[in-house]
Amino acid sequence: PDPSISEDLLAAGRKAYDVDREHVFHSWSAQRTITPMTVVKTEGPYVWDGQGHRLIDFSCQLINTNIGHSHPRVVAAIQEQAADIATINPAHVNAARSEAARLVADLTPGDLDHVFFTNAGADAVEHAVRMARVHTGRPKVLSAYRAYHGGTDLAFALTADPRRNPVDKATAGVAHFMPAYPYRSYFHSTTEEEESERALAHLEQTILLEGPQSIAAVILESVPGTAGIYVPPAGYLQGVRELTRKHGILFIADEVMVGFGRTGEWFAVNHWGVEPDLLTFAKGVNSGYVPLGGVAISCAVYETFAETPYPGGLTYSGHPLACAAAVATLNAMQDEGMVTNAARLGEEIIGPRLREIFEAHPSVGDVRGLGAFWAVELVKNRETKEPMAAYGGSSPEMNELVAECKKLGLLPFQNMNRIHVAPPLNAPDEVVRQGLDILDQALAVTDRYVTG
Ligand code: PMP
Repeated sequence: PDPSISEDLLAAGRKAYDVDREHVFHSWSAQRTITPMTVVKTEGPYVWDGQGHRLIDFSCQLINTNIGHSHPRVVAAIQEQAADIATINPAHVNAARSEAARLVADLTPGDLDHVFFTNAGADAVEHAVRMARVHTGRPKVLSAYRAYHGGTDLAFALTADPRRNPVDKATAGVAHFMPAYPYRSYFHSTTEEEESERALAHLEQTILLEGPQSIAAVILESVPGTAGIYVPPAGYLQGVRELTRKHGILFIADEVMVGFGRTGEWFAVNHWGVEPDLLTFAKGVNSGYVPLGGVAISCAVYETFAETPYPGGLTYSGHPLACAAAVATLNAMQDEGMVTNAARLGEEIIGPRLREIFEAHPSVGDVRGLGAFWAVELVKNRETKEPMAAYGGSSPEMNELVAECKKLGLLPFQNMNRIHVAPPLNAPDEVVRQGLDILDQALAVTDRYVTG
């Protein structure tokens, strides 16, 4: 245990654990089977577990604490705002929301000049789709398989990962298409160029078969996160932009996970110069210190609701505490150059080290990413690409790898057969290097299960 963690803190953590197991209902879990990790302290790029061990946080929790834990400027802004105006009817102007909206409008690409604030990512997606449906007068929305858009009903229907199946009511107006995923190409492509061309041809076929005149929007994660951080091949997002424009369909870029610097650009669409009609955000907008999400809206969509009311609202649309945290976060990110730092971390440290790790470990099938957003995809066999955990679940092998990382001092983000490397954008270089060294060491665990 870290000597800075007192016995009182550890005792409080043990008590919290017992009460949690008695009363807390956990997301995505078979309640009685889980042994969740207790966190007793967070600071910068670190968290401390229930035994008082310090772990490097390569998960940024759910990839939201982009500026690290407990950033003093953001903490102070929340405290000051709480003492001033803690909460207010969203119909009233509040200074924190006005300034947060101005910053978001300035930072987002194109003419996304108006901002509707929500509580988080899923409701941002719900509202973006509603705007698109009213704007176009069309009912359908297309989303990609291997995507994550949120846990509310419509957002979960758009989320084409297998977890939705038990509750999938085939929500009216949702259809799916295959994504561009070079490592496991659905189109039998052997090059990125081929993958981009074939995935676009498939999307156009889907649009034509569903009927362009019935489709309000195509929603896509600019870089799909939860489902694997698979960076789209060159030309793909531009192609989606052209196709949607050609058919009068809106393009919604879901930047809930990648927005605000994660990939080394303020928004991931900027890597490809693409301007969506609607852009959803959450997480990084205020590093998750207070729940906040939103939709950045183009001028054309804004006009639809300029003289006719928008059918929707939220008690906490632009909550002062959340918006004060956003203003402080975005100012700190700009002042401290965190977005360019994320790009540098990817180019100079994470990318090169992960390529070494790929060379050294037969259980690593692929490494890919941008900025401070990388995936290590684990396989039992590099030839067959048999995943170390089946799609939709974990496996004893992956659980063992995560346990080994934690034992060695790293909190990784694991999903299915992947470890995601997503440190804070301002993590010191030596902390990122240490985390990668730990991952390198821990991968001896999965190497033992390689069969080919
Ligand atoms: N969209 C994307 C791309 C996400 O990554 C997430 C959350 N992981 C969501 C939407 C949903 O956000 P929330 O959990 O804040 O509702």
